[in-house]
Parts: sequence; structure tokens; C-alpha cells
Amino acid sequence: MKDIYDVVIVGAGPGGSAAAHYLSLRGLNVLLLDKFTFPRDKTCGDALTPRALRVLDEMGILDDLLKVGHSLNNVAFFSPKGYSVVAPVPKKESRSGYLLFVPRLILDNIILDHALASGAQFQSPVRVTDIVQGEDCAIIRGERQNQAVEYKARMVIVAIGANIKLLLRMSLLKKPPQMMLCARAYFEGIADVLEAAQCRFDGVPSPGYGWVFPLSHSSVNVGVGFFRAGLAARWMPKTARTVFDTFIQTPSLQKILTGAHQVGPIKGYPLRMDFARSPTFAERILLVGESAGLVNPVTGEGIDYALESGKMAADHIIRMFSANDLSIKNLSVYDQLLRERYQRLFVLCDRLRFLYLNPLVLNRVIRSVAHQDDLKEMFMNIIIENEDAYEGLSPRTLSKVVLGKA
Ligand SMILES: Cc1cc2nc3c(=O)[nH]c(=O)nc-3n(C[C@H](O)[C@H](O)[C@H](O)COP(=O)(O)OP(=O)(O)OC[C@H]3O[C@@H](n4cnc5c(N)ncnc54)[C@H](O)[C@@H]3O)c2cc1C
Repeated sequence: MKDIYDVVIVGAGPGGSAAAHYLSLRGLNVLLLDKFTFPRDKTCGDALTPRALRVLDEMGILDDLLKVGHSLNNVAFFSPKGYSVVAPVPKKESRSGYLLFVPRLILDNIILDHALASGAQFQSPVRVTDIVQGEDCAIIRGERQNQAVEYKARMVIVAIGANIKLLLRMSLLKKPPQMMLCARAYFEGIADVLEAAQCRFDGVPSPGYGWVFPLSHSSVNVGVGFFRAGLAARWMPKTARTVFDTFIQTPSLQKILTGAHQVGPIKGYPLRMDFARSPTFAERILLVGESAGLVNPVTGEGIDYALESGKMAADHIIRMFSANDLSIKNLSVYDQLLRERYQRLFVLCDRLRFLYLNPLVLNRVIRSVAHQDDLKEMFMNIIIENEDAYEGLSPRTLSKVVLGKA
């Protein structure tokens, strides 16, 4: 059994590296694999929510991240018609009252280094192409610089983000899920300091939004995400790149980007948000983060879910090893734990997406919330998931939005 790892983790993003850290801390023999050599870029908005920051703090990395990141206490929302509201990020118990922006090139490398310092091993570039069942182990097959490689493990964590090829090959997904299409680019040299992260519904198709996330006083991450779905898809732009080009030509963006220059290419990448219908386990395998569809269907944030589910998967594997029970029944307990924590939210967000990201509703909500501080706080608490959305969006709240002082 010497050549068998306790756990092989495929994908060294936040989900995979968090799981590697927690498993290695408990003395398990852990191998992380990634198809890229690190540091590597990952197309993202680079925003860390208070939930993400809480896990990173628990892992002992927050202080390092505060040194390299840019924190902001406010988020500004702009409706399609140009109404706006600036809302502070509410502080709650152990959760921070701010967002932190750290380029993924830096963030993912810091988390990976931390996992390695905790004892995990790392091999890259290794592209995993299949996972099959062997005798008393899983066999992970892949390629390393055109050479076939193979590893054995008692358990495998799949944390490959939105790359669905492996999941389709293993029949874990029967067909590609519907994904949000996104694109982003970095700009440096902006003239005016932005005091708030911007979420903009002006200049992007619905459902969707654009963002301007400051990474320093003079640089920003600008991006768009939208759904090309249903009947409306017929008259929607075909690519995120087209939406991005239109977005940065809007007068608001032109003003922000006056004097600034783009750094690096415009990069597109899809987002999986189908957790409510997605598998999360198979024989000797647990899925973590975006591989389990864990990205918020309304906000598009997924680093927090990746970190949280990485930790949950690690905790569950430790329990399974202690009980010497790797049965499918015991694997399904991980699915139950994820469903208990996230299923209601994802079902609600799936429904809300088409209602909430609609110009008429957005104009009304943003205009109304701007004049009512209690609503402002409540909506922010729901958005950053400090508050249960079902409880927050009560008939009384909705009537305040509709009849509000707008
Ligand atoms: C444009 C855009 C903006 C976003 N903005 C935000 C944001 O601001 N805040 C936020 O919280 N979330 C954001 N997200 C979502 C967030 O990026 C993801 O949810 C998050 O990265 C998921 O983490 P993960 O660990 O599950 O996967 P990933 O971070 O995607 O990591 C997966 C890793 O697996 C590796 N891999 C993939 N396939 C293989 C293979 N076959 N073999 C070996 N390795 C493999 C990849 O190289 C990668 O390193 C955004 C996403 C996009 C596309």
C-alpha cells in the first residue's frame, strides 16, 4: 500500500488547495495535481467575500493576503436606468465588514504554498484525463509533458473548476450544464480613486451584470457575466467578449477608464452554477467547489464555496478514514451535508436570477433601497449571505421595496 496516496486532489485552485491543507494537517499523505505550473492566472473578478475571508483566516493566511490585497467597505450598485446605491458591507460575528480584492495569480499561489507547508505534495503540469476504480483504490490517469502518468489513492477529490471534460468522460455529468459566460481584463492608471466596488447592470444584457473591482487606488479588474439562455438567447450577443466590448464603451466605464491602459489580454471563461442539480460524489470520489456547481447563481461568486466545500470534503474524508468506511452510503453523507447547507439557497437563487436580474425590477429595487437604510443593510446581508434569503425576502420587505420612498 506504500505507493497509494491517502488522497489525490485533482485541481489546485482554492477548493483543492484548501482541502489539501486540512487533510495534510491531520497527517494524511496528500498529492495535489494541476494541469498548470503555478503561479497561474485564473479568469476571475478577484473579489473575496467575508465568508471566503473567514476560511482563509482560519487557515492562517488572511494576514498575508491583507498585505497584498485591496480592501473596500462599500459596494455600489447601478441599475440599467442609472439609479445607484452605495451600501456598506455589514460586519457579522466572525465575518469581516469588508471585501478583499487579490489577483488570482497571487491568491491561488499563496493558498497552494500554504497547503504545501502543511505537508501536501504537488505535481504539475499534470492533466488528469480519467479516474477509474482499481482494487481497493482509485486510479488517476493523466499526462505529464506528453508522458502517460498514473497514481493510486484511497480517495480522490475532484476540484477542477468549470472544466467539465473529465466529469463528462467519467459520466458524472451526462451533458454540459448551462453556464454563465464571462470575460474580464485588468486596467492600470485610472485617474479617480474608487471608494466602492461597482456592480453594474447598465450596459450588459439581462440576466447579467458588469463589475469594476479596484485592486489598488489606480488599477481595476473590469468584467461582465451574462446568461445566454431561453428564448431571449436568440437576440443576445453570442460571446462574453462582445458584451465586454460594449460594456467598456458605455459612458460610465469610459469615464472610469479615462487615461487608463489595459494590462494583459481580455480573458473569457464560463461559470458553473448548477449545484442544485449537480452530483457531488461517486465511488471513492468527492467533488469540491465549482466542480460541484458551487457558484452563487445570482452573484457569480464561488471562491468562498470552493474554500468551504474543500474544508467540508477534508473533514468528511477524515471521518470516513477513522470509521474505515468508504462505502457509497458514507460518501453520500458529504452530499447531504452540502445540501443541508446550500440547496435551499441555490434553488432560490436559480429562480430569482431571471426575476431579479431584469431591468424593470432592478430599476425599482435599486431606486427604492437607496432611500431606506434598513433595506440597504438587509439586501447586503442577503447578498453576502449573512442572512437567510428566504427570511430576508419576506412579503413585508418586498412591499417596502414596491411601495418604498422611491
Ligand atoms: C470571469 C469570472 C469572474 C469571477 N469572479 C469571482 C469573484 O470575484 N469572486 C468569487 O468568489 N468568485 C468569482 N468567480 C468564480 C470563481 O473563479 C470560481 O468559483 C472559483 O475559482 C472556483 O474554485 P475551484 O477551486 O472550485 O476551481 P478553480 O479555481 O477553477 O481551480 C481549478 C483548478 O483545476 C485545474 N484543472 C482543471 N482541469 C484539470 C485537469 N483535468 N487536470 C488537472 N488539473 C485540472 C485548473 O488548472 C485549476 O487550477 C468568477 C469566475 C469567472 C469565470
